[in-house]
Amino acid sequence: MKKELVIYLILLVFMLQSCNPTSGDKLPNFVIIFCDDLGYGDIGPFGHPTIKTPNLDRLASEGQRWTSFYVAASVCTPSRAGLMTGRLPIRSGMCDDGRRVLFPNSAGGLQQSEITIARALKQAGYATACIGKWHLGHLPEYLPTNHGFDYYYGIPYSNDMDRVTDGDQTYNNVPLLQNLEIIERPADQSTLTKRYTEESIKFIKENKDRHFFLYLAHTMPHIPLFRSGDFEDVSLRGLFGDVIEEIDWSTGEIIRALKEAGIDKNTLVLFTSDNGPWAIMKLDGGSPGILTGEKGATFEGGMREPTIFWWPGRIPPGTIMDMGTTMDIFPTFCKLAGVEVPGDRIYDGEDISQALFGTGHTGRDVVFYYRGTRIFAVRKGPYKAHLITKSAYGPDDEMEHDPPLLYHLEHDPSELYNIADQHPGAIEDIRAEIEKHRQTLEPVENQLQKMIAE
Ligand code: MG
Repeated sequence: MKKELVIYLILLVFMLQSCNPTSGDKLPNFVIIFCDDLGYGDIGPFGHPTIKTPNLDRLASEGQRWTSFYVAASVCTPSRAGLMTGRLPIRSGMCDDGRRVLFPNSAGGLQQSEITIARALKQAGYATACIGKWHLGHLPEYLPTNHGFDYYYGIPYSNDMDRVTDGDQTYNNVPLLQNLEIIERPADQSTLTKRYTEESIKFIKENKDRHFFLYLAHTMPHIPLFRSGDFEDVSLRGLFGDVIEEIDWSTGEIIRALKEAGIDKNTLVLFTSDNGPWAIMKLDGGSPGILTGEKGATFEGGMREPTIFWWPGRIPPGTIMDMGTTMDIFPTFCKLAGVEVPGDRIYDGEDISQALFGTGHTGRDVVFYYRGTRIFAVRKGPYKAHLITKSAYGPDDEMEHDPPLLYHLEHDPSELYNIADQHPGAIEDIRAEIEKHRQTLEPVENQLQKMIAE
């Protein structure tokens, strides 16, 4: 009788553990697929008419499409700092009004005092890998393996940097790194998407019996555009379409690897982009779809991203129109991994798991649209006020608006009709949010102005 009771109790404990997705060895895996300069309108689930994305179509139909999901900035470095830390880049010094991103001659980067998602998840025993573009500092102390990642394979900054002219040939002498070592220079960019995919699948297979965090940050479709032989001239959309269709293939391979490893039902996958399309690249740049704006500026197209969350059996399929941001990922993953969010600093992200699991809404009501160190626009509820506007690149046409331009983003997602004179109250509410936010800011060392001595 006593023996039976013990067996019964062991069984009961085991059953309770398997019911709780965040207990013991049942912790979920996390995969972030982060594109570079992919526009809101560049994939099938967000309406592109001639780029074929069957894998993303399936991911979106089995998972959730988020239609109001934002990044922390409209260019690479500050956007990535926001994703990795859960904090606006103004808090980590990872933004600047002149040098808007890090360059090969930059001496700055993400400081050791910052805590990345990878470092936070390490506390719960996660295996972690960063595969792809980093762009949070290329000096050793800033690289992924010194920021909580067990493994790194990728390029340290943008693929259009390190421009070299040799005779009549011009190319980008961008290095490919494995952990802290340069293993290829210049990186053969035509096979990067393919090799990132292979590295990701290898990491998934090697870690299928434990819990892991895979951050796959594609180099594409940032220009110069490259794709492997299998994707040459396959897309109706031309070269840019070929590149996206290879990313779609890659996503399908990642999902297939999760299924083959039998861990798809215990893995949350997020697909999104670091900023909007690079419009000045014309045919080589993407599309913001219904939105106005582009990479580098603070209209919606620069900072609202085509976003899909997928976790079969846990995330109910559908379309979520709540506001979310990449900064919400840090606290959300911490929550799901049973890791405490550090209490010694301010976070701009919020746990959005209730919206993901269909049990509630995100608590988010406000989004700040920073350009460098300054707030250009703010969204509160459906209203967005532009205090300052400026072209993404090119002429200095900066304009301050008083009253601000005001758009109702639910009625007018394309920001076409200024309704400032009809809604002074909405503008007052937004000004109050800015005041409240400014109280939380503290001076911090600027990382983007630091240069390596010549
Ligand atoms: Mg980018």
